[in-house]
Amino acid sequence: MTESRNYRLVHGGGDEAEIPHVLIVGGGYLGMYTARRLEKKLGAGEARITVIDPNSYMTYQPFLPETAAGSISPRHVVVPLRKVFDRVRVLGGRVVRIDHAERTVRYEPNVGEPETIHYDHIVLAAGAVSRTLPIPGLAEWGIGIKTVEEAAYLRNHVLNQLAIADSTDDEEIRAKALRFVFVGGGFAGAEAIAELEDLVRDAVRMYSSIGLEDVQFYLIEAADKILPEVGPEVGTKALNQLRQRGIDVRLKTFLESAVDQRIKLSDGTEFDAGTLVWTAGVKPSPVVAASDLPLGPKGHVDTTEYLTVNGVDNAFAGGDNAQVPDGNGGYYPPNAQNAVRQAPVLADNVIATLRGGKLKPYRHKNLGAVAGLGLHKGAAQLFGKVKLNGRLAWYAHRAYHLYAVPTFNRKMRVLADWTLAFLLRRDFAALPEMVEPRQAFEEASEPQIVQDGRLRRVS
Ligand SMILES: Cc1cc2nc3c(=O)[nH]c(=O)nc-3n(C[C@H](O)[C@H](O)[C@H](O)COP(=O)(O)OP(=O)(O)OC[C@H]3O[C@@H](n4cnc5c(N)ncnc54)[C@H](O)[C@@H]3O)c2cc1C
Repeated sequence: MTESRNYRLVHGGGDEAEIPHVLIVGGGYLGMYTARRLEKKLGAGEARITVIDPNSYMTYQPFLPETAAGSISPRHVVVPLRKVFDRVRVLGGRVVRIDHAERTVRYEPNVGEPETIHYDHIVLAAGAVSRTLPIPGLAEWGIGIKTVEEAAYLRNHVLNQLAIADSTDDEEIRAKALRFVFVGGGFAGAEAIAELEDLVRDAVRMYSSIGLEDVQFYLIEAADKILPEVGPEVGTKALNQLRQRGIDVRLKTFLESAVDQRIKLSDGTEFDAGTLVWTAGVKPSPVVAASDLPLGPKGHVDTTEYLTVNGVDNAFAGGDNAQVPDGNGGYYPPNAQNAVRQAPVLADNVIATLRGGKLKPYRHKNLGAVAGLGLHKGAAQLFGKVKLNGRLAWYAHRAYHLYAVPTFNRKMRVLADWTLAFLLRRDFAALPEMVEPRQAFEEASEPQIVQDGRLRRVS
């Protein structure tokens, strides 16, 4: 391990060390928008701003289901952080410990030895990770849909399952490959299953041995409803839509086991499935627990309505790793809508702290929710009044997200993807080997000899 070093070494030392250092943990919605506002409003001599994130990009997560369905290219749902900043320092790595009493973080770069970095003000914007349960087999066979890599993998994997089924007469292998299980009927789960079912519905036409009746999608939900975000009326209609499409939605049902891809449900059903997607909720990023900051009952950073951390100075938080009071005794839901709107308030409160100004509380009235459920299908509830299903909701979904995806560049690329898909129809090319791209080269590099007229590997 290298010696602990002051952050100014990373910056090259000099007068910079005298300038207050604002450190942002996480370059997602909250982190990216906060940093952008800080660099816009603060003079170069007022603060140094650093964002630490293991990824060099911010992910527009609402587009991940469409990425999994191939409607949007994976590259177009991410925004390169270094491209959007002028004088924010981006460090590629992970914060693994926060010692706020000492104003230091332990930073593990993606490559290289850990460092200790000093700061004056910290912003916790590390978001959330999938909340899993200790279900046998889940960790081995399940996958989430929280990252662009997972979404891209899912598309290749699902199309590959069709190719597997189409390439054998073994009924067990075929049936297993053609069963797709999604656990969790919230936004991510409902959108993901709907988009992928749509993809498969289109794709099966290419496979001579597979009919739609051979494919089975399951949505397993512990509650008695799906899509609570759009309200009971729109949610029930969306549920009926999914069932009409042949998706087997099981409410008040739990996944009990997935050992060796054998799915066991709490209603007694058992079957083999080649795909298990887990979208049953999220929990705050583990870094917040690895800190001396106060946490709330569910492990979020204990945050005030001013987006400051309760009981300590110079620490700010928002987004999915925080629980922000809504002024009515509850908390704002952890979603992009809130994270994006918290960013300017949080940044302005950091600036007010630096300049000795007054902090402002975060207040936001819910605008509603829009969900895409495959091409020309959706569910939406807008401003608490307007309730939409089907094609109109889908237009609302696309219009809102095109407006909300950051940067003009990404808006244009997403629009181009949609236009191409409209003109040329869906693209079914699958690249499952992307998961292990070096395999072919490794095999080719293995020493071989000719023995008895045949090429054999030397092991
Ligand atoms: C599939 C899906 C669909 C969604 N659809 C919608 C929708 O339609 N509408 C809506 O409002 N919301 C939606 N959401 C939720 C929304 O995306 C999140 O609420 C939002 O991203 C939260 O923003 P954030 O900044 O708190 O976290 P994030 O955007 O997740 O950013 C957190 C960042 O922190 C980084 N990080 C994590 N740990 C560390 C660490 N230890 N050190 C350094 N960096 C770290 C991560 O790499 C990430 O870049 C969806 C989410 C998913 C998964």
